[in-house]
Amino acid sequence: MNMPFAASEALRQQDLDHHLHPFTDHRQLAAEGGPRIITHGEGVWLWDTQGRKLLDGMAGLWCVNVGYGRHELGRVAQRQINRLPYYNTFFQTSHEPVIELSAKLTGLLPEGLEHVFFANSGSEANDTALRLVRHYWQALGQPERRVIVSRRHAYHGSTIAAASLGGMSSMHDIPGVPIPDVVHVGAPYAWESGKAMEQEHFAEVAARWVEEAILAAGPERVAAFIGEPVMGAGGVIVPPAGYWQRVQDICRRYDILLICDEVVCGFGRTGNWFGAQTFDIRPDIVTMAKGLSSGYQPISAVAVGERVVAPLLERPGRFPHGFTYSGHPVAAAVALENLNIIEREGLVEHVHDTVGPALATGLGRLADHALVGEVRTLGAMAAVELNPENMPGTRDLPSGTLATRVRNLCFEHGLVTRAVRDGLVFAPPLVITTDEIATLVDILSSCLDEVA
Ligand code: PLP
Repeated sequence: MNMPFAASEALRQQDLDHHLHPFTDHRQLAAEGGPRIITHGEGVWLWDTQGRKLLDGMAGLWCVNVGYGRHELGRVAQRQINRLPYYNTFFQTSHEPVIELSAKLTGLLPEGLEHVFFANSGSEANDTALRLVRHYWQALGQPERRVIVSRRHAYHGSTIAAASLGGMSSMHDIPGVPIPDVVHVGAPYAWESGKAMEQEHFAEVAARWVEEAILAAGPERVAAFIGEPVMGAGGVIVPPAGYWQRVQDICRRYDILLICDEVVCGFGRTGNWFGAQTFDIRPDIVTMAKGLSSGYQPISAVAVGERVVAPLLERPGRFPHGFTYSGHPVAAAVALENLNIIEREGLVEHVHDTVGPALATGLGRLADHALVGEVRTLGAMAAVELNPENMPGTRDLPSGTLATRVRNLCFEHGLVTRAVRDGLVFAPPLVITTDEIATLVDILSSCLDEVA
C-alpha cells in the first residue's frame, strides 16, 4: 500500500502548513521535512506512506492494548452509529452501552469500586477526580481539605488541572500552572535517588517524603494523594517493594483519599487488570482511559468507592460536572467489546505469564552493554536507562542526547520506542508474541552497538 513518493511529500507539506501537533517542536518538524505519516496497522505492526514496516514498541501512546486491525471493533462502532450515534447521559437519561460498560468495569476493578463516571481523555478523568475530591470534602463540611499530594516525574495529563497534578517541570512552564494547593514529592525512582540504598530502605524513604509533605501542609488541609501504580510517561518508574503499602498506610493514618491513575497501568499492562491489583492497593478513586478502548475510541472513566460516592448518592443537590460526551454510546460500545476481547483472548494472563517474563529476560540481556545503566520491567512495560557517561563524545551534551539518537536509529531500523530523559521506554501492544519481543530486543541491541 505504498503511496507514490510525490504524493507522500505533498501530504507532509500540507501537514506542515496546517496542522499544529501536540508536544512538538514545529521548527524541528519543518527541518525534518514534516511528520512520518502512518497509514495502517495490524497486530503490533505499523506501516507508513513509504511502505516502511515498524514494530510499535509503544502501542501508540501506551494505549493500543489489543493491537491494531481489530475489525470486530469497527463492526461494533458501525452498528452503534447506525442504532444510536449519540445521546447524553445528563438529565435522567441513559443508554444500553454505557450501562453495560459501567457494570462490566465494576466487575474488573479492585473490590469496592462500584460506581463509574465517564469522560473522554485521561486528562479529563483526572480533572474529574480533582473536582470530585474537592466536592467530597466540601460535602463533609471540610472545604479546607484542598491539598493534593502528587509526585515529581508524574504525568496526569495536559489540561490546567491535570498538568498541575503532574510533576514534570516542563509541564509547569506556562503561567498559572501549577494551580495552588498541589504539592509534589520525590518519586520512588531508585535510579535517580536511591541507587546506593537497599530497596526496602528506599521504599521507606520515598514513602516518608509523602508523609513529610502531608505534615508540612497540615493533615487537616490534605484532600488526596494521587499516583500511578507504575509511572509510565515519567520513565516506567517501578516502585520498590513495600512502597505502596506504606503510602497506603500513610493515607489511612491521616484520613486522606487515595487516587490511582490507571490511565497507563490499567487493562492488563502490569499483568493484572489494574496496577492497583499488582501492588495490592485499595484506592478510593481510580482514573482510567487508553486501554479502556485500546485507543479505538476516545473514552475515559473515573471509578469511585462507597466512601466517595456516598455524599453524591445520599445528599440532595448535584455534582456540577460532566461533558457532552460523557459515556458516549459509540465509545462505550467499543470499550465494552475491547474488554470482551481482552477477556476472551486471555491477554491479561498472556502479559503475566509470557510477555512480562520474555521482556524481562530479553531486555535483561542488554543490562551488561556498556551503554546500559539499568533495565526495569513489569508486565508489558519496560525502561532501559542509558549511561551517557560511558559514551565518549556525548558525555558533555545535554541530557537525553544519547537516548534520542538511539530512539531515532531504532526508528530507522523499524522499531518505535520513546526517549525519556537518558532512557528508552517500551509498552508494546499486549498481544505481542515472544518472537516479536525477540525482534524488539534485537533491533535495540544492534542500535546500541551502532552508536557505542
Ligand atoms: N494519566 C497518565 C498516567 C497518562 O500517561 C496520560 C497520558 O499519557 C494521562 C493521564 C492523560 O491522558 P490523555 O492524554 O488521554 O488526556
